[in-house]
Amino acid sequence: MAAHVNERSYDTTARSKLCRACVDFKTWVNQQKATLKEETPVGRNDHASKKKECPLDKDELGNQTWGLLHTMAAYYPDKPTPEERSDMANFFTTFSKFYPCHECAKDLQEQLKLTPPVTDSQHALSQWLCRVHNNINRRIGKPEFDCSRVNERWRDGWLDGSCD
Ligand SMILES: Cc1cc2nc3c(=O)[nH]c(=O)nc-3n(C[C@H](O)[C@H](O)[C@H](O)COP(=O)(O)OP(=O)(O)OC[C@H]3O[C@@H](n4cnc5c(N)ncnc54)[C@H](O)[C@@H]3O)c2cc1C
Repeated sequence: MAAHVNERSYDTTARSKLCRACVDFKTWVNQQKATLKEETPVGRNDHASKKKECPLDKDELGNQTWGLLHTMAAYYPDKPTPEERSDMANFFTTFSKFYPCHECAKDLQEQLKLTPPVTDSQHALSQWLCRVHNNINRRIGKPEFDCSRVNERWRDGWLDGSCD
């Protein structure tokens, strides 16, 4: 499995400095300030305040992407065909090459090498993805999610009825 982030997309200084999807909002603001100091004539406004409908930073992108990935797993067939299984595995391989946060993408590629997608069923895929997400949670200091509740979170709603 080819597992390389497209370094060409990231290797220019300017691009990596301005890759908003690669850093959290605070880091991005600090990078912007540094860039503005280097490049902006004195007196120009600082645009570092957060606005609505702006490009996603790393955490926004991550949160929204997890929503899509877990929901895809939630609606994956219970009994997938061989083609569906292969398509889903290929999806994750391709996804990991193009995920715009390159540090995140590299880590995901490593994880996919160690534990490839388990595509046997909806349950198997959702549990696999939950473990992948928990590995990242652990690495970045976020609480682990109870994988026995993954279908409540992403498909059925909580058993206490709070999503009904
Ligand atoms: C593929 C990928 C790789 C990433 N790699 C990195 C990285 O290397 N470094 C980095 O700083 N950030 C990374 N991120 C971003 C990071 O995972 C979070 O998305 C980001 O920190 C925002 O966190 P959050 O608190 O909004 O919750 P998120 O982690 O985005 O989770 C969103 C929601 O998913 C649910 N959830 C949490 N854990 C699980 C689970 N195990 N299974 C099912 N549901 C769960 C919770 O309800 C949570 O509110 C990555 C994101 C993705 C999609």
